[in-house]
Order: sequence, then structure tokens, then C-alpha cells
Amino acid sequence: MEGRWLDIFEILEEIGIPVAKWSWIEKEEELLKFLEENKEIVIKAISKDILHKSDVGAVKVGIGSPEEAVEVFRNFRKRFPGAKILAQEMIHGLELFLGAKKDPIFGWVISFGLGGIFVEVYKDVSMRLAPVDEGEAMRMMEEIKGGKILEGYRGIKVRKEEIARIISIFSKNLDRIGGKEIDINPLICNEKGCWAVDLRVLE
Ligand code: ADP
Ligand code: MG
Repeated sequence: MEGRWLDIFEILEEIGIPVAKWSWIEKEEELLKFLEENKEIVIKAISKDILHKSDVGAVKVGIGSPEEAVEVFRNFRKRFPGAKILAQEMIHGLELFLGAKKDPIFGWVISFGLGGIFVEVYKDVSMRLAPVDEGEAMRMMEEIKGGKILEGYRGIKVRKEEIARIISIFSKNLDRIGGKEIDINPLICNEKGCWAVDLRVLE
């Protein structure tokens, strides 16, 4: 599972979907080096037994000091013995959801929405048969109820053309990623761009 997770991150990068900088951590020195290079980081415990990492406290965001990093690393090691530890650069921005499901008759159907509760609770998503071009992707973004947030809200700015580019590229490369269901959740966007920070693939 960990291997596949990484492979998919690599495929995403290859097809042109940026991925937050990441590194597997086995030793404290590796973690401290990664923190020094990235200033603010996130630490996650990755394992096939952990489906929703934040539900079990296996994600710690906004780590800026070596002391905290080491403490979280040791704590995760203890609490999640079989898991691999992943460090990621921290991305500040708006969280989006980009998913795909393979329908036995229609093929890939993609969905797009704002991340978190907007998808999970309000089901505020727009859907299309894949593939979509950038114009169609732009219409998907305008269709969701929370679409206005993408125009800029309380200091959050995102690049809509970049999001449309990513939706379109994703929709055209689903067979390369494989599986039956693929979720990038979240894709975090700010005025500089968008980065995938988490994935879920159903084989
Ligand atoms: P899971 O969905 O399994 O709980 P995620 O990797 O999606 O785990 O992390 C949970 C939440 O933590 C995300 O929805 C996001 O809010 C935050 N998060 C995770 N990784 C990052 C990151 N690299 N930068 C900023 N926030 C992050
Ligand atoms: Mg997630």
C-alpha cells in the first residue's frame, strides 16, 4: 500500500499535477533535515490499516520546531507500530477535492468540490464523464454552490486556470493511475498554485 501510494504520487507528478514535497522518515536526523529544508511540515503515519488518518490522530500539521517534530515522530512510532512515517511540506490554502469513480457502463466519472465538510456533509460536488477539457473543467468549478469561494474569499486567492488545468489532466490520465476509485483529498491551492497532499485509491 505504501509503495502504491508513492507510485501514484509519482504518476501525478509525471502527468503534471504538483505534489507537496515529501519524504519517508526512518531516522530523526532525516526528519530534522527535511524540516530545515521546508521550514513548516506535516507528519503522517501511513499504513493500510489506517484509512482515515486524521480520525485516529495520525496527521500533525504545522510543525515548525525541531523539538515538536521529534516529539511527534516518537509518538507516532509508539502509537502506530506497523506504519511508515511520512513528512510533507505544509501547504497553506484552500482545500479542494478531486475524485474519480470507474462505472462499469460509462467508464470514469469525475467529481470536483471544495474539500472537507463541503464534500463529506453537503455533497456539494459537480460531476462529469471523463475526459473533460479545461473549458468544461471551468464550468464544473462554477457549478458547485461554494463556487464563489474560488473567486477569492477572505484573503484566500486561488488560480482558477491552474485548477481547470489539473482537473482536465486528471480526467485524461485515470487509466494510468488505475484502480476503481481515486480521490485526491485534499488538493491544496493558493495564489501560487495547487498541490496534492493526500490520495486514496480503491483497487
Ligand atoms: P486523511 O484524509 O487520511 O485524514 P490527510 O493526509 O488528508 O489525511 O490529512 C488530513 C488533513 O490534514 C487534510 O485534510 C488537511 O487539512 C491537512 N493536511 C494534510 N497534509 C497537509 C499538508 N501537506 N499541508 C497542509 N495541510 C495538510
Ligand atoms: Mg485526506
